[in-house]
Amino acid sequence: MQRRALAVLGICLIFAVLPITAHSGEVLFQYATIDALLAGVYDGQLTNGELKKQGNLGLGTFNTLDGEMVVLDGKVYQVKVSGQVHLAPDNGKTPFAAVTTFSPKKSVTLKKAGNLKELTQLIDESLPTKNIFYALKIEGRFARMKTRSVPRQNRPYPPLVKAVEKQAVFEFKNVEGTMLGFRCPVFVKGVNVPGYHLHFLSKDRKAGGHVLDCTVENLTVQIDPIHKFNLVLPSDPDFYRLDLDRDKSVELIKVEK
Ligand code: ZN
Repeated sequence: MQRRALAVLGICLIFAVLPITAHSGEVLFQYATIDALLAGVYDGQLTNGELKKQGNLGLGTFNTLDGEMVVLDGKVYQVKVSGQVHLAPDNGKTPFAAVTTFSPKKSVTLKKAGNLKELTQLIDESLPTKNIFYALKIEGRFARMKTRSVPRQNRPYPPLVKAVEKQAVFEFKNVEGTMLGFRCPVFVKGVNVPGYHLHFLSKDRKAGGHVLDCTVENLTVQIDPIHKFNLVLPSDPDFYRLDLDRDKSVELIKVEK
C-alpha cells in the first residue's frame, strides 16, 4: 500500500515537473534582426518556401519592404500597401520574418479590451513570466481593427522610420479574422521587437496588416510558450556592412506604434 502511494506520488511529481522541464519542442525561428530592418536592409536571402518549413504561424515582411507578412495555417500571405492580400510565392524572399509551429498550451478569454494596450495588459496578467517567448493567436470577430502596410522601396533604401512615413492605414469595424504574432522578452531588444508584435488577416483573406490598434470583446487568445530561439543571420554584404552598435529603441517605437 505504501509502495503504491509512493508510486502515485512519483507520477504526480513527474507531471508537476513536466511543464517546466519538457519545453515541448516549440522553437521561435527568426531570420535577420529588427535593427537591420530599421537600418534599411530590405533584401534577404531566405525564401518564403524555406520559411514555411520552420513554422506555420508568424509574421514579417518581404524583400524591398513590399508589404506586411502574415503566416497562418502554413500559408504566407502578403498584405500590400494597396490593402490587397495575395498568397506570397514560395520563391519570393524575406529580409525579416519570425515563425513557429503553433501548438497552444493555454487559452484566455478576453471579456473586453478597448484598445491594444488594454489587450496586451490583459494577456500579460495571465502569463507566468515575461522572460520567455510566446506565440499568440486570437480568432473571431473584432469590434475594431486598425492595421497598416508599407510601400515597396527602391535602392538606396531609406531607414524604416522614413519608409513608414508613406504607410497606408486601414480601419475595419466588426471584422472577422485572425490576429497573431509574438510576445518577446525585453532582453531581445535589437534582435526582435520587445513586447507584442501582432499582425492581422481577415477571414475572407482580403484584408490585414501590422496591427496598430484594436477593440476586442469576448474573444479567446490562444497562447503558446516558447523556450527555444533559432536565429539565422544573413550572409550578404548589406548585413555585413551595417553598423548595429547603436541603440535603435526610439526608432522602433515610432515604426511599430
Ligand atoms: Zn509588423
